[in-house]
Amino acid sequence: MQDGMSNFDALQAVHSRPTWIEVDLDALGRNFGQLRARAGAYGAAAVMPIVKANAYGHGLVPCALHLARLGADALGVAFVEEGIALRQAGIHVPILVLGGLVGSQIDLFLDHQLDLTVSSIAKLDAVDAQAAKRGMRARVHLKIDTGMERIGVHDYSSAAFLERAARCSHCEIVGIYSHFACAKRADHHLTVTQLANFLAVTKRLEDLLGRRPLRHIASSGSLLAFPESSLDLVRPGVALYGVSPSRELDSILPLEPVLRLRSEVVYFKVVRAGSGVSYEHTWHAPRDTRVVTIPIGYGDGYMRRLSNRGHVLIRGERYPIVGTVCMDMLMVDIGDGTAYNGDEVVLIGAQGAERVLATELAELAETTPHEVGTALNHRLPRKYLGGG
Ligand SMILES: *Cc1c(COP(=O)(O)O)cnc(C)c1O
Repeated sequence: MQDGMSNFDALQAVHSRPTWIEVDLDALGRNFGQLRARAGAYGAAAVMPIVKANAYGHGLVPCALHLARLGADALGVAFVEEGIALRQAGIHVPILVLGGLVGSQIDLFLDHQLDLTVSSIAKLDAVDAQAAKRGMRARVHLKIDTGMERIGVHDYSSAAFLERAARCSHCEIVGIYSHFACAKRADHHLTVTQLANFLAVTKRLEDLLGRRPLRHIASSGSLLAFPESSLDLVRPGVALYGVSPSRELDSILPLEPVLRLRSEVVYFKVVRAGSGVSYEHTWHAPRDTRVVTIPIGYGDGYMRRLSNRGHVLIRGERYPIVGTVCMDMLMVDIGDGTAYNGDEVVLIGAQGAERVLATELAELAETTPHEVGTALNHRLPRKYLGGG
């Protein structure tokens, strides 16, 4: 058994279920190229692909390695353990941990040369002191809250924070950043206000430092809808994986879905008219119909919310999921269609001329496409294509 691999991973590698995720690294690379070109056209020199949450379900290390190889200037993760996993995989580009900093973790950041997000004077004090004690310089990005009310110092009361940052003896202020609350909507007054307020803060910091640290605020939604917000660096996540953050932004760039979720038909039956299907019988066959069973369920992260809503592809045809999605299986009504045990079933991605997009499933499940990908968990093996 390999280091870091659980027994389950090892078993999975040998006894692969007929259900797995295919990740097209070449498509990931092409999306990265398109986003880099778009940011570049608006003056941003640097791109920090966001690979948090297992690269939105696509696999943290393989995606990060590929993006680093293609020249990503930095990588962004949510938690320190994700950053450490990337260092252990041999990735050397700067890695920014976007999540909040917990005091006892400072040494981990310093041990692994991870860039810290710092969002209070007290935390700056702690980081500066710890770096001084170890005779090191900590790489820091300051977090400014311009309207998300998540983490960060409010732009309107950031003066003392900026002054403290400028006085740090053992921190390198690498960047300063903020995050849009309504980035998907180009017309949103809040987005314009957030950008203006953020720029005023960065100007003050620039004056204090006598140089310009990296200023960044744009994620996928704003890079597509409001590219003027690209500034010095962009932080695209979901768009890298070929998933538009919303349908309105679909047409801006020809992004390619990177993930394909596939399974196989494992059972075929005819359900008589009037018979109920699956738990609680939330669906009844309106007539005698052919129903097939697919071995994937909400225990894999295929959302139960897609019960009686989602569609799958079999033999290039689109068919509805009927009844509730179970933990390990779901049922599909193929009507008078044909399907045999062993036929491929596509739950996300293309088959023939048809495709099911994560954005479509997100709308049906009343969530974001981000959640559709990140929900797909560890029980699903990932197979990587391309990237050579
Ligand atoms: C997750 C995240 C991103 C990426 O967002 P997408 O909508 O996936 O592009 C960028 N910045 C921060 C701070 C984030 O938390």
